[in-house]
Amino acid sequence: MADGSGPSPIRTTCPYCGVGCGVSALPGSGRALAVAGDKAHPANYGRLCSKGTALGATVGLEGRLLRPEIGGRPATWEAAIRRVAQAFNRTIERHGPDSVAFYVSGQLLTEDYYAANKLMKGFIGSANIDTNSRLCMASAVAAHKLAFGADLVPGCYEDLELADLIVFSGHNAAWTHPVLVRRMEQARARGQAWVVVDPRRTDTADMADLHLAIAPQSDVRLWNGLLAELIRRGVVDRAFVEAHVSGFDDLQKALEADDQGPAAVTQDCGIALKDLIRFYDLFARTERTVSLFSMGANQSAQGVAKGLSILNAHLVTGRIGKPGACPFSITGQPNAMGGRETGGLANTLAAHMDFDAEAVDRVARFWSAPNTAAKPGLKAVDMFEAVRDGHIKALWVMATNPAVSMPNSGRVREALARCPFVVVSDVMAETDTTAFAHVKLPALAWGEKDGTVTNSERRISRQRPAFPAPGEARADWRIIAEVATAMGHGEAFGWRNPAAVFREYARLTAFENTRRPLNLGPLIDLTPAEYDALAPVQWPPTPGGGDTPRLFADGRFATLDGKAKLNVVHPQGPASAADGAFPFSLNTGRVRDHWHTMTRTGLAADLCRHAPEPYVAIHPEDAVAFGVEEGALTRLRTAQGEAVAVARLTDRQRRGGLFMPMHWTDAFAPSGRSNGLIGQAVDPRSGQPEFKHTPARVSAYRET
Ligand code: SF4
Repeated sequence: MADGSGPSPIRTTCPYCGVGCGVSALPGSGRALAVAGDKAHPANYGRLCSKGTALGATVGLEGRLLRPEIGGRPATWEAAIRRVAQAFNRTIERHGPDSVAFYVSGQLLTEDYYAANKLMKGFIGSANIDTNSRLCMASAVAAHKLAFGADLVPGCYEDLELADLIVFSGHNAAWTHPVLVRRMEQARARGQAWVVVDPRRTDTADMADLHLAIAPQSDVRLWNGLLAELIRRGVVDRAFVEAHVSGFDDLQKALEADDQGPAAVTQDCGIALKDLIRFYDLFARTERTVSLFSMGANQSAQGVAKGLSILNAHLVTGRIGKPGACPFSITGQPNAMGGRETGGLANTLAAHMDFDAEAVDRVARFWSAPNTAAKPGLKAVDMFEAVRDGHIKALWVMATNPAVSMPNSGRVREALARCPFVVVSDVMAETDTTAFAHVKLPALAWGEKDGTVTNSERRISRQRPAFPAPGEARADWRIIAEVATAMGHGEAFGWRNPAAVFREYARLTAFENTRRPLNLGPLIDLTPAEYDALAPVQWPPTPGGGDTPRLFADGRFATLDGKAKLNVVHPQGPASAADGAFPFSLNTGRVRDHWHTMTRTGLAADLCRHAPEPYVAIHPEDAVAFGVEEGALTRLRTAQGEAVAVARLTDRQRRGGLFMPMHWTDAFAPSGRSNGLIGQAVDPRSGQPEFKHTPARVSAYRET
């Protein structure tokens, strides 16, 4: 009771996207929950989008998994934990540590991620743990490492308000990160310019001063063209480049060899010369520029090159580490960053450390785990292929739905069906993935969880519970610790609460190394009460526990020589080009009001109105040519599979392009699953799948 008149709202964090908005949640009777934006949270200052506003409608217990199940029958926790531990231990004994895997999620809290990573990499001794964040931002991670020496996001949301130019590259922020768009309203009113680079005319493009509707996968050509033009015009920060950047001469030579002037760029990108020149002019003259990039850049077989071409433009102009100036990768998931930090990716060890000998030794000693994995594990697409071909024989899926969300999801379903042992820990009893589970473990949902998440601007915030655990559901970190204990590793997993997990994780980050800014030293001694009261903080925390809004402000990067590296990147076509059999480029993405596979947003009637059914957007002239009519059922085919969706004819779509949302599941519309259509091409450096381009064809749907 804050003032004696009623219960106090709980300050927590929205679970839907990487903006990480603060939420004020007031429980009522039963499972009622009144939700408002937290006015004091520095990510949103009280704002919420449609999804955040509807959180109260999604916390009911309908469809929840509330008891463990073995073979589809209710079981005790003791029996379920024993069964999982025995299956994993037996598989490891017979086939080695790389015969098991965890596939985890950006929905997990940082404490959950830390526990899962510690068990797999430290005590099982394999790095076969990967996260579904692989599908949304792995290319940005790889680009950051190549350019900055570590996966570091330089800027902060305040930069979006301070900038005079925002470039959205493959980022429909109006739908995917609406609160960031609202944060820019005042800046827009004072004249902030927007350029949107996107093959589709999205709602963000409608709001922009300039929309470059580039041909799919021509981003690198556009950004390399910009770089060549900047150098031609002398818009290079020579002093910054000389002092803080390496590789300029090589980059300049490569650009000069490739460059045939703006007219050639317009041809390759399919845009008008006057628009290209306007983009060049805006970028060239605007010191305070932020370039946002998201799935449209990342979800590509050349996602790393796209990211690097954007980073190059900022490094050459010295627009990084300064107020209102930075390249800014925006994450999709609420705790994609937490996974990156703790080692949720198969190719990082823990606490942002890579698999170099010094780091492996450090982590092994810290965990007292001499068998700590010494090499990277399998990334998501390869992991499910290894399940399918029998190399992985026991798989634990945590808080995600790969039977829908993975590319070529039909093949993933085959893999799950063949796997000798599948355990799924989830909040929902029936998902497309739990259908394959031998053991189901009930996990806590948002509103019950207790821990931390990190948003796109490196801000650690608390998720706090509004409700007690329903039924027998348990926290993910605790489930993992209990399985670890039953596997014989109890001493290392004896945490009593999430504060203890967080403290241990913070201790692992806290060692002197000027190249590693992820050092949570000031947070290692938090008492449970201090952890509970932890205010949102941007890492690395200052010695007093305050924010660090910008990295690289001193021009020092995390490379060996302290300089950022310019990387030469060349434009490439997509992994497989459209052809006579599959003449369209199919692009997939999200709609405004749904989240992932709709397991939660599908429960809120208000959120289902905006896009009530699976649809395919197609240009009207293409529709006529292929006999497709507005509102009619339409069949899509690719080399991987087929789907049926309602046609939406719109000139917001480029000729030759299709767009289909990615949310629908067996529960909502099985024929409308888009990811069954997507191929398994990935960026070779990041392992991120090419969700933004699959050769496809369309036809009017006829019952057969
Ligand atoms: Fe939640 Fe993202 Fe919307 Fe904020 S912008 S309320 S974090 S979904």
